[in-house]
Amino acid sequence: MNDIENGQIEDEDVPLSPNEVKQLKRKKGSQYCFWFRNDEPLITIGPHWPFPLFLTVVLILGTYYIGFIFYKSDILFRIVQSCSGLFLILTFLITALKNQGINYKSSNTAFTEHWCSICSMHKSKGTIHCKDCNICIRGYDHHCIWIGKCVGEGNQFAFNVFILAFLVFFLINYVLLLI
Ligand SMILES: [Zn+2]
Ligand SMILES: [Zn+2]
Repeated sequence: MNDIENGQIEDEDVPLSPNEVKQLKRKKGSQYCFWFRNDEPLITIGPHWPFPLFLTVVLILGTYYIGFIFYKSDILFRIVQSCSGLFLILTFLITALKNQGINYKSSNTAFTEHWCSICSMHKSKGTIHCKDCNICIRGYDHHCIWIGKCVGEGNQFAFNVFILAFLVFFLINYVLLLI
């Protein structure tokens, strides 16, 4: 309880200019946060952002090559392949950009069990501090290098759909190759 009280007192005692508040909101750990709603970012860019950028380019070029150069013969092949490729790219972008569950609000002390000395915040059950992202993630699953950040409660569903889209994409293209 002392820690909570001390933390709250410290937060209230430090006067911050609006610009400093904006900077603090924008950069959380190694994350860049954008598009806030109810003081929580909807979009975050992870510390390993070059990997998702590289993968996005590979997915776009790969889908275009397979759909418009490789399958020259049939327009139906192109449509089916392009749709599966588009679905794959969209689910990947949503997973890579969606807020993965940053433990953002300092007032979020309900049902807490542990204290993170790096974030100076209480961690609810399932929240783990990621060393790469340098911030606590709610519902932490793992740090994924390909999306450049963690998979947590915020993007877990999108990540699962992306994995499904990945399997569907390869299955569709494999079947198209056999026809
Ligand atoms: Zn932490
Ligand atoms: Zn991470």
